[in-house]
Amino acid sequence: MSDEAKRRVAHWVRTPVRELKAYAVPSAANLIKLDAMENPYPWSPELRAAWVEVLRDVSLNRYPDPRAQTLSAGLRDALAVPAGAELMLGNGSDELIQIILLALAQPGRAVLAPVPTFVMYELLATVAGMRFVGVPLRADFTLDRDAMLLAIAREQPAVVFIAYPNNPTGDVFPVADIEAIINASPGLVVIDEAYFAFAEHTFMARLAQYPQLVVMRTLSKQGLAGLRLGILAGHSAWLHEFDKIRLPYNINSLTQASAEFALRHRDVMDAQAAQIRRDRGELALALQALPGVQVYPSAANFILFRVPGSASAVHARLIGAGVLIKNLDHAHPLLAGCLRVTVGTPAENTAFLQALRTALA
Ligand SMILES: *Cc1c(COP(=O)(O)O)cnc(C)c1O
Repeated sequence: MSDEAKRRVAHWVRTPVRELKAYAVPSAANLIKLDAMENPYPWSPELRAAWVEVLRDVSLNRYPDPRAQTLSAGLRDALAVPAGAELMLGNGSDELIQIILLALAQPGRAVLAPVPTFVMYELLATVAGMRFVGVPLRADFTLDRDAMLLAIAREQPAVVFIAYPNNPTGDVFPVADIEAIINASPGLVVIDEAYFAFAEHTFMARLAQYPQLVVMRTLSKQGLAGLRLGILAGHSAWLHEFDKIRLPYNINSLTQASAEFALRHRDVMDAQAAQIRRDRGELALALQALPGVQVYPSAANFILFRVPGSASAVHARLIGAGVLIKNLDHAHPLLAGCLRVTVGTPAENTAFLQALRTALA
């Protein structure tokens, strides 16, 4: 029986899919969780009570608004989407990346991004049957503009992804380099601004200027990772096509109601982001003070750093001490020896630093 299942899988499941490694999410039970760029702050009891009141009135027997019109209007305003640009919502920005790639996929076509970067670009490009071309950053994780322009000229990519700031390195690539990439790209350029709340740099206002540009945001890194809400802004000609691939009710009623509620209270999210930005500075200074540790500048809510000796061993010792961060030791050759920590609460950051000091000793 299981042999027969395996035989059929080997025959019918596409080779690129069988060769993929699933996106791994480690268990964080009983650990201080600083691995996934989540906002560590819950809402106050009063705010939670008000939110639950809103959810009480959601009609679960009905399908959600397929266009999430009320939420979209609120988002346009909150995200300062320029006139002329349209919005499309996704079940997380992961879904938006998938929709874009499904729309552009054709055998042989390339998807290009500087690497190391957010792994879903390559994973979803592979699933869509496209060729992923990663252009290595320099050893200090700055953008290699000339290498990018050469690769774009050679590969003529259907789409270029730029995470701005980049994950897992945390840096914001220079505006002039990104403009050169946009101008050189024959297809679509996606600027992924998942960390906008912590970087405050954006290409949103340039949508009118560049018809080949779309800008992606998400509420995940700002305290609403559980809701799954991603936002794509761009010219209606692109979004009109992408919208045909989007499943009709991809944003469920609870997410729509909750996100509308969150937007009405966005001062709370903004204050939390400001707190995280301050704590990021302190955490970076404390990391820099550790002997042998190299810290990379970050405009996001995480910090990439390199440790002397085996990063995997340090990572394992941190788990032993009750702290989960991200091990990037084997994620890409440029990341050898690197770990990534999400900025947590001051108490979590202190516990992490204490555990790291011990792990490095
Ligand atoms: C976390 C992350 C995302 C995914 O966000 P979701 O909206 O939770 O799917 C997208 N892009 C980058 C660069 C990220 O780091």
